[in-house]
Amino acid sequence: MALPRLLVRALHRAAAAAAPAAPDFNSFVTRTNTCGELRSAHVGQKVTLYGWVQYQRQGLFLVLRDFQGLTQVIIPQDEAHSHLKELLSSAPLESVVRVTGTVSPRPLGQENPKMPTGDIEVKAETAEILNSCKKLPFEIKDFIKKSEALRMQYRYLDLRSPRLQSALRLRSRLVMSMRQYLCNLHGFVDVETPTLFKRTPGGAKEFLVPSREPGKFYSLPQSPQQFKQLLMVGGLDRYFQVARCYRDEGSRPDRQPEFTQIDIEMSFVDQAGIQRLVEGLLQHSWPEERGSIMTPFPSMTYKEALAEYGTDKPDTRFGMKIVDISDVLRGSSVHFVQNALSYPHGSIRAICIPQGVKYLTNKDLESLKESAKSEFNQEIMEIIRKPDGSLKSLLTKFLGEKEKSELIQALNMQEDDVVLLAAGEHKQVCCALGALRLLSANLLEAAGLALRDPTAFHFLWVVDFPLFLPKAENPTELESAHHPFTAPHPSDASLLYSDPTKVRSQHYDLVLNGNEVGGGSIRIHNAEQQRFVLEKVLKEDSEVLSHLIEALELGAPPHGGIALGLDRLISLIVDAPSIRDVIAFPKSFRGRDLMGNAPDYVTPEELEPYHIQLCTKLPENHEEMWVDDRLSSSRVLSQRIAWGRDFIVAFQDFFPCEEKRMPREAVAAPGSLEVSKARLDWAWSNLG
Ligand code: ASP
Repeated sequence: MALPRLLVRALHRAAAAAAPAAPDFNSFVTRTNTCGELRSAHVGQKVTLYGWVQYQRQGLFLVLRDFQGLTQVIIPQDEAHSHLKELLSSAPLESVVRVTGTVSPRPLGQENPKMPTGDIEVKAETAEILNSCKKLPFEIKDFIKKSEALRMQYRYLDLRSPRLQSALRLRSRLVMSMRQYLCNLHGFVDVETPTLFKRTPGGAKEFLVPSREPGKFYSLPQSPQQFKQLLMVGGLDRYFQVARCYRDEGSRPDRQPEFTQIDIEMSFVDQAGIQRLVEGLLQHSWPEERGSIMTPFPSMTYKEALAEYGTDKPDTRFGMKIVDISDVLRGSSVHFVQNALSYPHGSIRAICIPQGVKYLTNKDLESLKESAKSEFNQEIMEIIRKPDGSLKSLLTKFLGEKEKSELIQALNMQEDDVVLLAAGEHKQVCCALGALRLLSANLLEAAGLALRDPTAFHFLWVVDFPLFLPKAENPTELESAHHPFTAPHPSDASLLYSDPTKVRSQHYDLVLNGNEVGGGSIRIHNAEQQRFVLEKVLKEDSEVLSHLIEALELGAPPHGGIALGLDRLISLIVDAPSIRDVIAFPKSFRGRDLMGNAPDYVTPEELEPYHIQLCTKLPENHEEMWVDDRLSSSRVLSQRIAWGRDFIVAFQDFFPCEEKRMPREAVAAPGSLEVSKARLDWAWSNLG
């Protein structure tokens, strides 16, 4: 019995692993070739190409572009082709053109080794302008240099860039390969789950969608969490989905109100099972051109991550780990040291910045200390190891020779290294030093020290999270570290009822180069335990989840899963600065679609079926206003903007990264016409 099954499996795998045939880009269409395809081997062939005019030179030749590349097209100069010459030389840049002609070798010496099609050119015989491009609001070759907001407004133009083309194509290939791994190799079922649902307690804020029933709203799910668990109760056994998720988290850099997860759930699985699955999934789908990834990924407990890196998503591409020096300094008489150590969770910790004296300016060091103070309320003391080996610091006069040499040893301080030391409550100290570790790494790199390999991919599992954490706004109350469906660690399960703060969970996060790219857990599958967590620990109304709790009572298998953040993962793979660079139509920093201008106003009549009335009065002239003359001279400028607060908000959308530089009064202003204009004037002269 066993043999044929194994054999079938092996055959399946072999078939799936076989190199896929190159796709046929020319099927079903009237072109013969793409613009990136022609080589010397095609010389003599008659071809038909379609593309955009990238460049045109003095009626002699033009360069045609499509998603695959560029081809040089020679415009005939003889009288018989004067019409063709006239047509092609007058086609504005970015016009869509068909060219039919013959592939010829480029004249000797005119080959372009930088162009894949650089050995040939196409001698045009006939051509057609399929769509003549109007004058663009900017030079397309300068487009990349324009503000991100402008590029988002003309997203379809930005999409023509090789940068976005290649990111979106890589994304598509990776998802395809993930599907293949999950469905074909491991029997997962791709199931779509609803996006109109109801509120899930204890998580991110959800968007509401009005319904026609008075007072009733749908919620857009922050993830398919409940559905994927219910699919396990429904016996689907292995589920996955490329799932769109929604979180109304307001403006956060590099977050989107809508984003995509590779969402996975399995029955009868443990943490290790999910981890091996994800490692296999990533290894299988990893783009070849990015090298290979080693599995299994290393693993670290939450406690270790916090103590050594000051964060639950450590960037393990470089050292500079946080070192506990409490014992080294315990015997000293320094007041702040003794004070810190007198608290139950008191500790003294430090990071050592290699070559900090050489690479960091005094201003850098001041700004590091300043940021620890403002972000974490944490004082930082600095120690320098001088070229003669001695230590320079306000601290050193209080330390004996033994303590000094122990300090040097504990921190492995070399000459010209700078140590940043913090004393206080354990978590605060670690978080402050963790942030300084990253900031100083950025400063060192900006100053020319190669610290992190830009081509390296360091995956890491972080495990053994606490099940609950104190709420930031009210530390006497608890919230789930992951979500309320996460199961306690088996060895801590009894603590759930006596001291929930001490319970570790079966929650695991996947971290890549210091970014969280996935998270999941083994779930509670016992109704009583789920009810206890919701009602007694989280103080949530379990009624909202009665359907799920009831399902747990009706034969729910043990189950667990994970979700990978696809946007973030892809942006790291292609080394893009933002997730917006790997999303076809992203939202701005403030969650707006700058191309279509969403969200937009709706009329009271449109709101009526939903039994909704606006309680905030809009300004009289909010309708559609066209900002002053200068504004209307380009599309940034012809953006429909309602005066008032919205003006400021829209303006910040256009220049998100400039917000800090803007005059405070203008940012905070209620937005009278005058203020808006003043702001505009300021922006115009400062931002160009
Ligand atoms: N639904 C979770 C999330 O979106 C992931 C999981 O627990 O599977 O973070």
